[in-house]
Amino acid sequence: MSSSSADARAGAARPAGIDPATGPSAELRRRAEAARGFLPTEEGLALHGAACSVRAEVLGPMLEIGSYCGKSALYLGDAARRTGRVLFCVDHHRGSEENQPGWEWHEPDLVDAAVGRLDTLPHFRRAVYDAGLEDVVVAVVGESATVARWWTTPLALLFIDGGHGEDPAHRDYECWAPLVAPGGRLAIHDVFPDPADGGRPPFEIFGRALASGAFAELEGCGSLRVLQRLDVPLRPTARPSVP
Ligand code: SAH
Ligand code: MG
Repeated sequence: MSSSSADARAGAARPAGIDPATGPSAELRRRAEAARGFLPTEEGLALHGAACSVRAEVLGPMLEIGSYCGKSALYLGDAARRTGRVLFCVDHHRGSEENQPGWEWHEPDLVDAAVGRLDTLPHFRRAVYDAGLEDVVVAVVGESATVARWWTTPLALLFIDGGHGEDPAHRDYECWAPLVAPGGRLAIHDVFPDPADGGRPPFEIFGRALASGAFAELEGCGSLRVLQRLDVPLRPTARPSVP
Protein backbone atom coordinates (compact mmCIF):
# COMPACT_ATOMS: atom_id res chain seq x y z
CA MET A 1 0.00 0.00 0.00
CA SER A 2 1.38 3.47 -0.84
CA SER A 3 1.83 5.83 2.08
CA SER A 4 -0.81 8.20 0.74
CA SER A 5 -3.49 5.51 0.63
CA ALA A 6 -2.36 4.35 4.07
CA ASP A 7 -2.83 7.92 5.29
CA ALA A 8 -6.29 8.12 3.76
CA ARG A 9 -7.28 4.85 5.44
CA ALA A 10 -5.95 6.10 8.74
CA GLY A 11 -8.14 9.17 8.51
CA ALA A 12 -5.25 11.56 7.92
CA ALA A 13 -7.06 12.83 4.83
CA ARG A 14 -9.44 14.72 7.10
CA PRO A 15 -10.72 17.74 5.18
CA ALA A 16 -9.09 20.96 6.35
CA GLY A 17 -11.20 23.16 8.58
CA ILE A 18 -13.45 20.38 9.89
CA ASP A 19 -13.25 19.84 13.62
CA PRO A 20 -14.42 16.29 14.44
CA ALA A 21 -15.21 17.41 17.99
CA THR A 22 -18.13 19.52 16.83
CA GLY A 23 -21.51 18.00 16.09
CA PRO A 24 -23.14 17.75 12.69
CA SER A 25 -24.26 20.89 10.89
CA ALA A 26 -27.77 22.20 11.52
CA GLU A 27 -28.66 21.12 7.98
CA LEU A 28 -27.47 17.53 8.46
CA ARG A 29 -29.19 17.35 11.80
CA ARG A 30 -32.45 18.57 10.25
CA ARG A 31 -32.20 15.90 7.54
CA ALA A 32 -31.40 13.14 10.04
CA GLU A 33 -34.30 14.15 12.25
CA ALA A 34 -36.62 14.12 9.22
CA ALA A 35 -35.44 10.71 8.00
CA ARG A 36 -37.71 7.80 8.85
CA GLY A 37 -36.39 5.40 11.42
CA PHE A 38 -35.77 4.57 15.00
CA LEU A 39 -33.05 6.75 16.51
CA PRO A 40 -33.88 9.67 18.82
CA THR A 41 -31.90 12.84 18.07
CA GLU A 42 -29.90 12.72 21.32
CA GLU A 43 -28.78 9.17 20.56
CA GLY A 44 -27.94 10.09 16.96
CA LEU A 45 -25.75 12.94 18.19
CA ALA A 46 -24.08 10.63 20.72
CA LEU A 47 -23.40 8.11 17.93
CA HIS A 48 -21.93 10.90 15.80
CA GLY A 49 -19.70 11.95 18.70
CA ALA A 50 -18.55 8.37 19.32
CA ALA A 51 -17.67 7.95 15.65
CA CYS A 52 -15.73 11.23 15.56
CA SER A 53 -13.81 10.34 18.71
CA VAL A 54 -11.95 7.37 17.19
CA ARG A 55 -8.28 8.29 16.89
CA ALA A 56 -7.06 8.79 13.33
CA GLU A 57 -4.37 6.12 13.89
CA VAL A 58 -7.11 3.48 14.15
CA LEU A 59 -7.32 2.18 10.61
CA GLY A 60 -10.47 1.14 8.83
CA PRO A 61 -13.95 2.09 7.77
CA MET A 62 -17.11 2.25 9.87
CA LEU A 63 -19.93 -0.26 9.42
CA GLU A 64 -23.51 -0.36 10.60
CA ILE A 65 -25.83 -3.34 10.64
CA GLY A 66 -29.43 -2.22 10.22
CA SER A 67 -29.95 0.93 8.18
CA TYR A 68 -33.69 0.94 7.47
CA CYS A 69 -34.38 4.32 5.82
CA GLY A 70 -31.01 5.87 6.62
CA LYS A 71 -31.48 7.80 9.83
CA SER A 72 -28.41 6.46 11.67
CA ALA A 73 -26.49 6.39 8.38
CA LEU A 74 -26.81 10.16 8.13
CA TYR A 75 -25.27 10.72 11.55
CA LEU A 76 -22.52 8.16 10.93
CA GLY A 77 -22.03 9.26 7.32
CA ASP A 78 -21.42 12.83 8.46
CA ALA A 79 -18.93 11.51 11.00
CA ALA A 80 -17.26 9.52 8.22
CA ARG A 81 -16.95 12.66 6.12
CA ARG A 82 -15.42 14.59 9.01
CA THR A 83 -12.88 11.91 9.86
CA GLY A 84 -11.85 10.90 6.35
CA ARG A 85 -13.46 7.48 6.58
CA VAL A 86 -16.16 5.53 4.73
CA LEU A 87 -19.35 4.02 6.17
CA PHE A 88 -20.64 0.64 4.97
CA CYS A 89 -24.34 0.06 5.67
CA VAL A 90 -25.35 -3.61 5.81
CA ASP A 91 -29.10 -4.29 5.49
CA HIS A 92 -31.19 -6.66 3.36
CA HIS A 93 -33.80 -3.88 3.40
CA ARG A 94 -36.62 -6.37 3.93
CA GLY A 95 -37.20 -5.30 7.53
CA SER A 96 -36.72 -7.06 10.83
CA GLU A 97 -39.29 -9.37 12.36
CA GLU A 98 -40.78 -6.41 14.25
CA ASN A 99 -41.23 -4.46 10.98
CA GLN A 100 -43.41 -7.16 9.36
CA PRO A 101 -47.21 -6.87 8.97
CA GLY A 102 -49.00 -7.33 12.28
CA TRP A 103 -45.99 -6.24 14.36
CA GLU A 104 -45.65 -3.03 16.31
CA TRP A 105 -43.11 -1.33 14.03
CA HIS A 106 -44.72 -2.09 10.65
CA GLU A 107 -45.05 0.82 8.19
CA PRO A 108 -47.39 -0.37 5.40
CA ASP A 109 -46.30 2.22 2.83
CA LEU A 110 -42.81 0.68 2.82
CA VAL A 111 -44.11 -2.55 1.29
CA ASP A 112 -43.15 -3.20 -2.35
CA ALA A 113 -46.56 -4.34 -3.64
CA ALA A 114 -45.09 -6.31 -6.55
CA VAL A 115 -42.85 -8.31 -4.21
CA GLY A 116 -45.18 -8.33 -1.22
CA ARG A 117 -42.31 -7.51 1.14
CA LEU A 118 -40.79 -4.41 2.70
CA ASP A 119 -38.27 -2.47 0.63
CA THR A 120 -36.55 0.34 2.50
CA LEU A 121 -33.64 0.63 0.06
CA PRO A 122 -35.15 3.43 -2.10
CA HIS A 123 -35.82 5.50 1.04
CA PHE A 124 -32.32 4.85 2.35
CA ARG A 125 -30.80 5.80 -0.97
CA ARG A 126 -32.79 9.00 -1.25
CA ALA A 127 -31.91 10.10 2.29
CA VAL A 128 -28.19 9.56 1.64
CA TYR A 129 -28.40 11.37 -1.70
CA ASP A 130 -30.30 14.34 -0.26
CA ALA A 131 -27.72 14.66 2.53
CA GLY A 132 -24.89 14.74 -0.02
CA LEU A 133 -23.23 11.67 1.49
CA GLU A 134 -23.16 9.27 -1.47
CA ASP A 135 -19.38 9.44 -1.71
CA VAL A 136 -18.81 8.25 1.87
CA VAL A 137 -21.84 6.00 2.51
CA VAL A 138 -21.84 2.62 0.75
CA ALA A 139 -24.91 0.38 0.88
CA VAL A 140 -24.22 -3.35 1.21
CA VAL A 141 -27.55 -5.03 0.49
CA GLY A 142 -27.71 -8.48 2.01
CA GLU A 143 -28.03 -10.67 5.04
CA SER A 144 -25.65 -9.60 7.78
CA ALA A 145 -24.18 -13.06 8.46
CA THR A 146 -23.57 -13.65 4.74
CA VAL A 147 -21.66 -10.39 4.40
CA ALA A 148 -19.73 -11.06 7.62
CA ARG A 149 -18.60 -14.45 6.36
CA TRP A 150 -16.55 -12.73 3.65
CA TRP A 151 -15.58 -9.57 5.50
CA THR A 152 -12.03 -9.29 6.84
CA THR A 153 -11.32 -5.55 7.06
CA PRO A 154 -10.91 -4.28 10.65
CA LEU A 155 -13.43 -1.63 11.63
CA ALA A 156 -12.95 1.75 13.30
CA LEU A 157 -16.58 1.61 14.42
CA LEU A 158 -19.27 -1.06 14.37
CA PHE A 159 -22.90 -0.09 15.04
CA ILE A 160 -25.22 -3.03 15.73
CA ASP A 161 -28.88 -2.13 15.13
CA GLY A 162 -30.14 -4.99 12.96
CA GLY A 163 -32.59 -7.73 13.91
CA HIS A 164 -33.38 -7.65 17.62
CA GLY A 165 -34.57 -11.26 17.90
CA GLU A 166 -32.37 -13.65 19.82
CA ASP A 167 -30.69 -15.35 16.89
CA PRO A 168 -30.08 -12.27 14.69
CA ALA A 169 -28.71 -10.13 17.53
CA HIS A 170 -26.37 -12.81 18.91
CA ARG A 171 -25.23 -13.73 15.42
CA ASP A 172 -24.42 -10.09 14.65
CA TYR A 173 -22.32 -9.90 17.80
CA GLU A 174 -20.54 -13.18 17.09
CA CYS A 175 -19.86 -12.42 13.42
CA TRP A 176 -18.90 -8.77 13.64
CA ALA A 177 -17.60 -7.79 17.09
CA PRO A 178 -14.22 -9.54 16.58
CA LEU A 179 -13.64 -7.25 13.60
CA VAL A 180 -13.55 -4.03 15.66
CA ALA A 181 -9.95 -2.76 15.61
CA PRO A 182 -8.14 -1.98 18.87
CA GLY A 183 -9.04 1.61 19.76
CA GLY A 184 -12.20 1.34 17.67
CA ARG A 185 -15.78 1.56 18.92
CA LEU A 186 -18.60 -0.95 19.27
CA ALA A 187 -21.98 0.79 19.51
CA ILE A 188 -25.14 -1.19 20.27
CA HIS A 189 -28.65 0.19 20.05
CA ASP A 190 -31.78 -0.72 22.01
CA VAL A 191 -29.94 -1.87 25.12
CA PHE A 192 -32.54 -1.97 27.88
CA PRO A 193 -31.34 -3.08 31.33
CA ASP A 194 -34.97 -3.22 32.50
CA PRO A 195 -36.94 -5.91 30.58
CA ALA A 196 -40.04 -3.73 30.97
CA ASP A 197 -38.47 -1.24 28.52
CA GLY A 198 -37.65 -3.63 25.66
CA GLY A 199 -36.37 -6.96 24.40
CA ARG A 200 -33.36 -8.77 25.89
CA PRO A 201 -31.02 -9.67 23.01
CA PRO A 202 -29.33 -6.25 22.53
CA PHE A 203 -28.78 -6.07 26.30
CA GLU A 204 -27.42 -9.61 26.26
CA ILE A 205 -24.88 -8.90 23.53
CA PHE A 206 -23.78 -5.76 25.38
CA GLY A 207 -23.12 -8.06 28.36
CA ARG A 208 -21.21 -10.50 26.19
CA ALA A 209 -19.00 -7.68 24.87
CA LEU A 210 -18.09 -6.68 28.43
CA ALA A 211 -17.60 -10.32 29.49
CA SER A 212 -15.25 -10.90 26.55
CA GLY A 213 -12.67 -8.72 28.30
CA ALA A 214 -11.98 -7.03 24.99
CA PHE A 215 -14.28 -4.03 25.37
CA ALA A 216 -14.56 -1.22 27.93
CA GLU A 217 -17.72 0.80 28.29
CA LEU A 218 -17.59 4.47 27.29
CA GLU A 219 -20.38 7.01 27.31
CA GLY A 220 -23.93 5.91 26.58
CA CYS A 221 -27.12 7.80 25.76
CA GLY A 222 -30.67 6.52 26.07
CA SER A 223 -30.58 2.94 24.82
CA LEU A 224 -27.29 3.48 22.97
CA ARG A 225 -24.20 1.88 24.49
CA VAL A 226 -20.69 2.63 23.25
CA LEU A 227 -17.65 0.47 24.02
CA GLN A 228 -14.00 0.78 23.11
CA ARG A 229 -12.07 -2.21 21.78
CA LEU A 230 -9.03 -2.95 23.90
CA ASP A 231 -5.83 -4.32 22.47
CA VAL A 232 -6.33 -7.81 23.93
CA PRO A 233 -7.81 -11.00 22.47
CA LEU A 234 -11.58 -11.34 22.57
CA ARG A 235 -12.63 -14.18 24.90
CA PRO A 236 -15.44 -16.19 23.32
CA THR A 237 -18.63 -16.13 25.39
CA ALA A 238 -21.71 -18.33 25.15
CA ARG A 239 -25.22 -17.13 24.45
CA PRO A 240 -27.25 -16.97 27.66
CA SER A 241 -29.20 -20.18 28.04
CA VAL A 242 -32.94 -19.89 27.63
CA PRO A 243 -34.64 -20.57 30.99
N1 SAH B 1 -30.55 2.10 12.28
C1 SAH B 1 -31.88 2.34 11.76
C2 SAH B 1 -32.92 1.35 12.24
C3 SAH B 1 -32.64 -0.08 11.85
S1 SAH B 1 -34.07 -1.10 11.97
C4 SAH B 1 -32.32 3.77 12.07
O1 SAH B 1 -31.49 4.59 12.45
O2 SAH B 1 -33.49 4.08 11.91
C5 SAH B 1 -33.38 -2.68 11.69
C6 SAH B 1 -32.94 -2.96 10.27
O3 SAH B 1 -32.18 -4.15 10.32
C7 SAH B 1 -34.06 -3.18 9.27
O4 SAH B 1 -33.95 -2.28 8.20
C8 SAH B 1 -33.85 -4.64 8.77
O5 SAH B 1 -34.07 -4.81 7.39
C9 SAH B 1 -32.39 -4.88 9.11
N2 SAH B 1 -32.08 -6.29 9.38
C10 SAH B 1 -32.66 -7.10 10.31
N3 SAH B 1 -32.10 -8.31 10.31
C11 SAH B 1 -31.13 -8.28 9.36
C12 SAH B 1 -30.18 -9.25 8.88
N4 SAH B 1 -30.13 -10.48 9.39
N5 SAH B 1 -29.35 -8.88 7.88
C13 SAH B 1 -29.41 -7.64 7.35
N6 SAH B 1 -30.27 -6.68 7.78
C14 SAH B 1 -31.11 -6.99 8.77
MG1 MG C 1 -32.58 0.52 17.09
